[in-house]
Amino acid sequence: MVDRRAVLLGLLSCPVCASLARAAGGPPWSYEGADGPAQWGDLDPGFKACAAGSQQSPIDLKGAIKADFGHLELDWKPQAYTVVNNGHTVQANAKPGSFARVAGETYALRQFHFHMPSEHAINGARTAMEVHFVHAGPGGRYAVVGAFMKSGATNAAFGAVMAAAPRTLGEGALRRPIDPRQLVPAKSDVYRYAGSLTTPPCSEVVDWNVYARSIEVAAGDIAAFHALYPMNARPLQPLNRRFVLIGH
Ligand SMILES: [Zn+2]
Repeated sequence: MVDRRAVLLGLLSCPVCASLARAAGGPPWSYEGADGPAQWGDLDPGFKACAAGSQQSPIDLKGAIKADFGHLELDWKPQAYTVVNNGHTVQANAKPGSFARVAGETYALRQFHFHMPSEHAINGARTAMEVHFVHAGPGGRYAVVGAFMKSGATNAAFGAVMAAAPRTLGEGALRRPIDPRQLVPAKSDVYRYAGSLTTPPCSEVVDWNVYARSIEVAAGDIAAFHALYPMNARPLQPLNRRFVLIGH
């Protein structure tokens, strides 16, 4: 669970976040208050799935069933990503040429972005942050690769992204290419389940692949993200009639 006092203190330290969100275009939505997650489904007809859906994300990853679903294959190229502060998160936009292969399908990497705290939980426990690599595939499906992030050793890739992230709504660029593989654990089991986008419109079109192990990033870089987005995680959603699988 998110500590509510921490959230409120965080909002006080980021008075521009709400106005940034409004400037991002489309119906305004946020992570607290009148346009927070409990209201997302009512904010726009296109956001209905946020309230009415039955396969929503994020979820608590518990009771996972061991399965042999084939290796998650990442074919990501180091790039000097464009880094955008979009009013909801810090996002790195990818140029074409990076892919993930999941269960025989190929998905193209579009962008990766960050949440604080982690959106998914393992047996109820969240970590400091979570990174999501969003890939588009056939038939309007998406494969999102997620990794938990915790405070520890310096992570050069995350450090470079935070150094390039604009402090207000806008776009920056990395000075040098970074290897996005630094943002996922080298060796880890993977949770897999069928879910949704964790932001409006909450479309149920996502094959989730979340690493069980966390990566470490510098406390200072977590603090830099906190200064921009102290709380941008959707609450946990009910599992309903779904299974969580775990494999490697
Ligand atoms: Zn996300």
